[in-house]
Amino acid sequence: MNAASVWERLSLVQGDITTQRVDAIVNAANSTLLGGGGVDGAIHRAAGSQLLDACRPLGGCPTGGAKITPGFNLPARHVIHAVGPRYRDGAHGEPGALASCYRTALQLATDHNCGTIAFPAISCGVYAYPIHAAARVSIRTVADVLGGADQPVTVTWVLFDEPAFSAYSSALAELRADLRA
Ligand code: ADP
Repeated sequence: MNAASVWERLSLVQGDITTQRVDAIVNAANSTLLGGGGVDGAIHRAAGSQLLDACRPLGGCPTGGAKITPGFNLPARHVIHAVGPRYRDGAHGEPGALASCYRTALQLATDHNCGTIAFPAISCGVYAYPIHAAARVSIRTVADVLGGADQPVTVTWVLFDEPAFSAYSSALAELRADLRA
């Protein structure tokens, strides 16, 4: 897979991830996988109570990991529940844990034949990861994985508000420029 085709398969939109008609949406879950606020609450509301029933037997998930369920009432076929790190100061393994949950989510998507995947800005809400730094880690990680993947996968970040969309847009432009340099 050449570098150009990887960047063509990444996109950013501003919006609500629960309305995305893709094979899998990714949830910014907490380690209980039993629901929470923010995007997690929105996904559980839109999917219906069967989603919580499907999450209960999963037994939680460590930070940096991810687990998959059906999407139930969502337009998306699957929900991948990824557990991002809570940000402290950036020196407690946060970038590695954030990259790990993106990698695990993409692996699960591939295992379940998902060609279209939508991510929120994992860890950038209650978990307080600075958004521009999170955008750089997440875009670089996804581009790396897609560059080595056998199957063509399309990834969209669905950013809830304008500041998040701007931060991801500038991080994407910087990373593309770095690679051209
Ligand atoms: P975390 O605990 O991982 O920080 P949050 O849900 O608090 O997760 O926030 C993650 C990001 O998801 C934030 O940028 C927040 O604005 C965004 N968000 C909240 N609701 C939605 C939604 N319906 N669709 C997409 N993104 C959302």
